[in-house]
Amino acid sequence: MLSEDEFSEWYNDIVEKAGLCDKRYPVKGMNIWTPYGWKLMSLIDAVTHSEMARTGHREVCFPLLIPEDQFAKEEKHIKGFGGEVYWVTHAGLNPLDIRLLLRPTSETAMYPIFALWIRAHTDLPFKVYQICNVFRYETKQTRAFVRVREIHFFEAHTCHADFEDAERQIREDLEIMSVVGKSLCLPYMEMRRPDWDKFAGAHYSVGIDVFMPTGRTIQIGGIHQYRENFAKAYGITYEDEKGEHRLAHQTTYGMSERLVGAVVAVHHDQKGLKFPPAVAPIQVVIVPIPAKELQEKVAQECRTVFHRLQSNGIRAHLDERDLRPGNKFYDWEEKGVPLRLELGKRDLANNAAVLVRRDNGAKVSVPRDELIMIVKRILDEIGISMLKAAEEQLKAGIRDVEALDDLPVGVIRMRWCAEEACGKDAEARTGLNILGTRYSGEQAEGKCAACWKPAKTYLYAARTY
Ligand code: ZN
Repeated sequence: MLSEDEFSEWYNDIVEKAGLCDKRYPVKGMNIWTPYGWKLMSLIDAVTHSEMARTGHREVCFPLLIPEDQFAKEEKHIKGFGGEVYWVTHAGLNPLDIRLLLRPTSETAMYPIFALWIRAHTDLPFKVYQICNVFRYETKQTRAFVRVREIHFFEAHTCHADFEDAERQIREDLEIMSVVGKSLCLPYMEMRRPDWDKFAGAHYSVGIDVFMPTGRTIQIGGIHQYRENFAKAYGITYEDEKGEHRLAHQTTYGMSERLVGAVVAVHHDQKGLKFPPAVAPIQVVIVPIPAKELQEKVAQECRTVFHRLQSNGIRAHLDERDLRPGNKFYDWEEKGVPLRLELGKRDLANNAAVLVRRDNGAKVSVPRDELIMIVKRILDEIGISMLKAAEEQLKAGIRDVEALDDLPVGVIRMRWCAEEACGKDAEARTGLNILGTRYSGEQAEGKCAACWKPAKTYLYAARTY
């Protein structure tokens, strides 16, 4: 496993060298999405949009500013976020009567309006989402995509007639998460957070945690069951079949640009990034291999291949820079392009092309007549093998412990009596963050690692980003 210092240095360097972002913007924690990085984020968003459409969520776009009094209505929520918000105190030269804040998330922007939109049981379930920027004044060390102050953010908000229907929504969210995870070749753990660490205002929270090469975990998604907590504060009610007014049950599901951070960190080697084919900004890079007298012919064939790939829905790039092929290989390996296509003199004669995989370096010569089919197949294979490799890392990263001293690096799994005091004790004694228990449930036999009373389940803990 990488040490935190090694990882930090490598990560901070690669995100700029590979052209994912520019950190020179003069506001700390607010980076510039450069074209290559933004393309990656947009392709990830495209997976999200498509899943939202599949599951009947409708897209909305709410204002960025929230009035202070509206924000303060849900007491726990403001307690949880109060210290992290950016305030707008003036309009022109005049101080505002009611301060405005930049949304740190949009519950308090949306819910007073949901109260106007939702009238009857026929309006339910009500499912909307938006992809926008949110702002959080992070005081810890910032890191591109992982801990920033202006965050590219996805948030789905739903309202339901009862608790059971909201629970169904949470299961659907987890299904969506699995589609997103597969596209990014990212295995993860679905953890039900302990009560003392749930989202501010939630009835319970499910954290989606990815295992990083340093042995820490990063939360890339959050799914929250609100019950009627927010509906009470914001007056979201509906008329049921009998004409009685009832409070709506609500859920949210959030993800952010941390998905990019996790992809960068989980899939890499000493040469650089490895992008999952489904979201790689460039899936195939074409590198012409110069041949003195046939230079123009090679260039022409490369252009033909480029157009064929593009018109078949494969994201291709033709590198015609005046550089040696070796330098081009190096560049595109660093940038994580899953497949390289080389075409030179010998390939002209054989009507062939050479394909080189980024994930394992495998090289194969293929007939150009079957190129499209073969490229698509190899891209699929790369996705499958990257996911498998990451799954093995995650599996190896979870360590069972019997007691709380002499802990290994990674995610630790301990038997737990399920008492809050005991969980907090474990947190204090290990100095780790408690991730919670498996959402799907797990039964343990034996003794709690903290108090030695009979255990009920397993508790997970790790250092986190
Ligand atoms: Zn215990």
